[in-house]
Parts: sequence; structure tokens; C-alpha cells
Amino acid sequence: MLSLLFAASLFVTQAPDTAHVVLVATTDVHGRATAWDYLADRAAPGGLTRVATVVDSLRRRFPGQVVVLDAGDMLQGNAFAAYQARQGRRQPNPIVEAMNLVGYDAATPGNHDFDWGLPELERALADAAFPYVSANLFRVPSDSLLVSAFRVLRRGPIRVGVTGFTTPGVTVWDGDRLRGRIRVGRIEAAAGRTFAAMRGSSDLVVALAHSGVAGPSSYDTTGVGAEDVAGTFATMKARPDVVIVGHSHDEIRDSTLGEVRYVQPKPYAASVAVVHVDMVRPPGREWQVGRIRGELVSTAEVTPSAVVEQRLRPAHDAVREWVGEAVGMAIAPMPAATGRAMITPVVDWMLDVQRRRAGATLAAGPVFDLRAGVPGDTIHRRDLLRLYPYENTLRAVKISGAQLKDYLERSARYFRVDAAGRISINDSMPGYDFDLVHGARYDIDLRQPIGSRIRNLAVGDRPVAPSDSFTMALDSHRQSGAGGYSMVAHAPVVYDRGEWIRELLEEDLARHRLDPLHVVTSNWRIVPAMAESAVFKIYGIESEPLPVSRGDSLLLRVFGTAGLHGRLESVGALAHAMDSLAARCECPTLRLDGGGAVTGRGAGGGAATGRGGTGTVTAGGSGMGVGAAGRTAAGGGARPGRGAAGGGATLGGAAAGGGGSRIISLRQIRVLGRLALS
Ligand SMILES: [Zn+2]
Ligand SMILES: [Zn+2]
Repeated sequence: MLSLLFAASLFVTQAPDTAHVVLVATTDVHGRATAWDYLADRAAPGGLTRVATVVDSLRRRFPGQVVVLDAGDMLQGNAFAAYQARQGRRQPNPIVEAMNLVGYDAATPGNHDFDWGLPELERALADAAFPYVSANLFRVPSDSLLVSAFRVLRRGPIRVGVTGFTTPGVTVWDGDRLRGRIRVGRIEAAAGRTFAAMRGSSDLVVALAHSGVAGPSSYDTTGVGAEDVAGTFATMKARPDVVIVGHSHDEIRDSTLGEVRYVQPKPYAASVAVVHVDMVRPPGREWQVGRIRGELVSTAEVTPSAVVEQRLRPAHDAVREWVGEAVGMAIAPMPAATGRAMITPVVDWMLDVQRRRAGATLAAGPVFDLRAGVPGDTIHRRDLLRLYPYENTLRAVKISGAQLKDYLERSARYFRVDAAGRISINDSMPGYDFDLVHGARYDIDLRQPIGSRIRNLAVGDRPVAPSDSFTMALDSHRQSGAGGYSMVAHAPVVYDRGEWIRELLEEDLARHRLDPLHVVTSNWRIVPAMAESAVFKIYGIESEPLPVSRGDSLLLRVFGTAGLHGRLESVGALAHAMDSLAARCECPTLRLDGGGAVTGRGAGGGAATGRGGTGTVTAGGSGMGVGAAGRTAAGGGARPGRGAAGGGATLGGAAAGGGGSRIISLRQIRVLGRLALS
């Protein structure tokens, strides 16, 4: 009897006809080891500590059947990751330690895993208690694989083959860190070979694709493989059964292409892909894939694993302390919120630091995060991490006037105008690809078609000719041509010392207090005024409600400028300072210029009559007075960052209109002096 039972169980284990494998996957975790937002200093959804809880519960429910995978972009992307790479240097890297504690079975590197350089990635690979796989990363010059092309993991009777691919875009974005060390092959070629090889040794073939499903590449693909090609796996002769997609930060719950199943969990470990695979073996045949069911499990409500949290505690505490350190001072709040609509001091500060450091005439760059900015007192490192969240280094290129125009035209595609003239944001272009160029003067004319929107382009008050030559500071990412800026990809690089831009900003803050009045502002705007207003509206830049005076007493705050020396570059900062002072006073304000003759030529303009609109400004040489009529109280309030000195005659206007800030178009100011506040 006993031997019969033994024989039966032996029979069952040797030849089961069904089996079950549970694939659990994350991708684009970007440093979220802990469930903490270090910039806001509070608990956050997502994080590997929560993933650990999900994995633990699946392992309890499906013992011996779970395979935990990651599709790349793990080691970079938040303060926790930046601290480990640049400051803490703990061994093992706490992010990899978290992966070890979760119990990952395999992972593939993403493009951002190379951001800290190859030695840092190799340290992480060495710390990992699980194998990394990649079929298209090769060492140079030996042309040997950086890590195994694939691994076969046993789950019960099933041989689960896992391979990985990294988008060739990494050679564009991190070219300097890879050159002479790593070659990234085209994914399609590597995939065809690898899947065919895996079929011989695997019952279930899984691909970790750090490459989106399909779509145009965000870089010039000449000599480089395409960026997002995971969809092509479905049409290959040897195909995978399941693809875990990464890189594109999209979400794919459970989708079939050809006969291949695709899933993509949310970035930042906000969700985990769970794929149940039923395997069947018909009598006398090999194992086959039966039913597949994919789902995404949100980690938002999941309690973080206490064990993993405790192990990460020292690193977590160190990062909190690091981001909370004071790195500088600002005399007034400088928010980035308006940076994609108008001249914004904090953006100009960042660009000007880069321009000066590189010794360039121009500096180009985007506003990464509209929630960023510095407070009007102590600046902490977390403010900088929000202002400049990426691990880019500073470079400068030599470009022609024609390339500069092309560059700005590319950027100006950020705005979409429909047939009815309605303006919206081009949602196929991320906000961080809308670059501003500091040091040049230009209008973005939204009446013009794409490719012809840049008007009145000048550098140093001289119109730009196509054959002109300029040096322009930019970050390493943009210099590679990323984001559709291929016109700079082959421009000669005249500055590249591998300096991290965020650290340069921090150094600048250590030298002096940040003062919006002393920021060299840029000089661009959206035209016509209606288009500008529409863009302002998109960004919630509304006219502030004006204070109402009580009775016949009126408190006025008067801002005066004097000593005009024709300095144009501080206008935006000046206006910004006046605006914030006006807002704090909550009283009507006047902006007066007392430098030289206050002729008040604009005196009779709209202000006096209480009509809205922009008055005329007389411009002359140094010391010429500025008489301006802007919007009256009836016509609206101050737009942040706009407006400047008003002429003496506007006093009448203020009284007539019941008080309010005088606003004139920034471009109409041609003279400016030192600011005196009274
Ligand atoms: Zn990513
Ligand atoms: Zn990526």
C-alpha cells in the first residue's frame, strides 16, 4: 500500500500534466526603495518596501511558483538614488539591498542605470543576490556580453527562461559614460537570436524589455537602434510568451500582440504586474503555455514590509538629513510655476549659472518641474533636487544662427493651435522638452505655422543671421540631441568637464544669496498678446484680484527706479520683485522712474482715463523717463513677472482708476536703472 502511494506520488511529481507559474514584475522604479517622498518629506505611495509585501503574500499563496522580475531604471531618479551614488556610497547599495530583500529572481538594466557611470552600475551588479540579464549589452573591445543573455529558473517542473534588452537610446543619452566601454546592440537582432536559443532550454520564455512597445524614437537613430521596439517581438519567428515592458512609463494591464502577452506595471513601483501562467503537458509532449492572465496590483494601499523598512532605516535617515540640509538663501520666493509661459527668475538663474560656468553666450534648458522653486529664505537641498531632478552634466556647443533658430522652432512646437485658433499644450511633447534660450531675445509667434514661429531673434541686440556663430551651454542629455533636438547632436562640443549641473547650482548658492533683482533675465515672450493670455490661462497665471480701497483714504506703495543705464537684463527680475512686494502690501502700488527727466510722455494714455490696455512707452538713451499707462485697476491686476517702471503721470491714472499696479509690456521698456524701494 505504502509503496503504491509512493509510486503514485512519484508519478505525480515526475509527470504532472499542469503547472502554474506566477510572474511578478516591476519596472522604472527609479530609486523608490522606500515608501517615502524625500522632497515633500512624507510617506509616498509605491516603493519596494510595499512591493515586498505583495511578493510575500503571493509567495505564501503560490509557494514555489513565483518569479520576481524587474525591467530596468532602478538605480536613478530620486533623492534616495542620488544620495547613494554621489554621497552615501553604502555597500551594498541600499536600492539593491532592497531588491535582495524583496527576493528578485532576475532584472535587466535600464538606460538610467548607466547614469552614474559604468563602475557604479557594476558595483550594483556585484551587490545583487540575483542575476542581471541582457542580450544586447556588450563590453568593448572584447564584444563579450556584459551579463548573461538569459537565465533559466526552475519553478517546479517548469523551466522559466528570462532575458532582457536595454533601449539603444542609452548610447545617445549616456554616450560619454559608455563610449569605449559598452556597445548596445539593436534589440531586434539580439532578440531574434536569443529567443531562438531560449526555446531549446525553456518551457516559458519571458522578456524584460527596457524599450516601449512601439513609436518614434526620441533621438536621431542614424547608426543607433530604435528606442521602442518591444512590439516587434510578436512578429518574430521565435517569440517570447510574456513581455514585461519598461522604459516608456506607460501602463499595460494585459494585452496580446500576435500570440505574445504584454504587461507593463506603473513606474515608481506604484503597481506590480502579476501574470499567472498555466502550463500544460499533453501526454508524451513537451510543456506548453496554456492560459495566461495578467493584472496590475496597485501598491498604494499596501503596508510596507516592516523587515525591509527596518533594514533600509539607516539609509533612509541619512537621505532625509541630506535633503534637509541648508544650501543657500533667497531674499524672495522664486517659484518656477510660470516658467513655461513667461520670463521667470528662478529659471533664468539656473540657465545663467550654466552659461557663466561654460563661458558661453547662450544657455538652453527647460523647466523640469512647475512645482519647483525656492522659498524666500533658507534654500534646502530638496528645493534644488526638485528644480533640477536629473543627473545631467554641463556642456557647451558651438552652433550657427540657423541652428539656434531651428532649436527654438523645435521648442516652440510645444504649443498647439487648432483651426479655430485655440491654443493648447502639445501633449505629445513632454514639458521638459520645451527649452528656453537664455541670452537671446525672441518672440514665439503662435499665429505662425510650426517651423516659422520664432520672430525677432536677436543676440546682444543684433538680429541673428543664419551664418552667425554662438556658444551655447546645455545639459549632456540635450547635447545628445534628445527630445528632438538633433540640430545640436553633431555641433562641436566646446565645454565638457563632466560637472553635474545640480552640484554647480549648489556651488553657486554657496557663494551668494539668491536675489531675483540680480538675476540676469532672459528675453522671450509669446505673441500676440491674445496668445500670451491664452498660455497664461493654461498655466493658471491669472490677474490677481486688486485690493479695494475703503473710503477716501488710500495707501499707496511707490516703487521707484533711478539711475538708468540702459540695462535691459534685469527687467524681469525687477518686475518680479515689484510684483511680490505689491502682493505683500495688498495695497495699490505705483511704479515710478526717477532717473533723468521724468517727462511723462505716456501721461495721457489709458491710465488717466481708466481704460485697460497697454500704453506707449517712450524709449531713449540712458536717463530717459518712462511714462507708461498699463492696465488700470478696472482693467486688471498685476501679472507676475510683468510690468515695470511707470511714469509720473500715471499717478493721475491710479487715482482715477481707484489704485492698482501699473503694468506695461516688458518689451516696451528700453531703459532701466537701479531699484529703490520706498
Ligand atoms: Zn524610466
Ligand atoms: Zn528608461
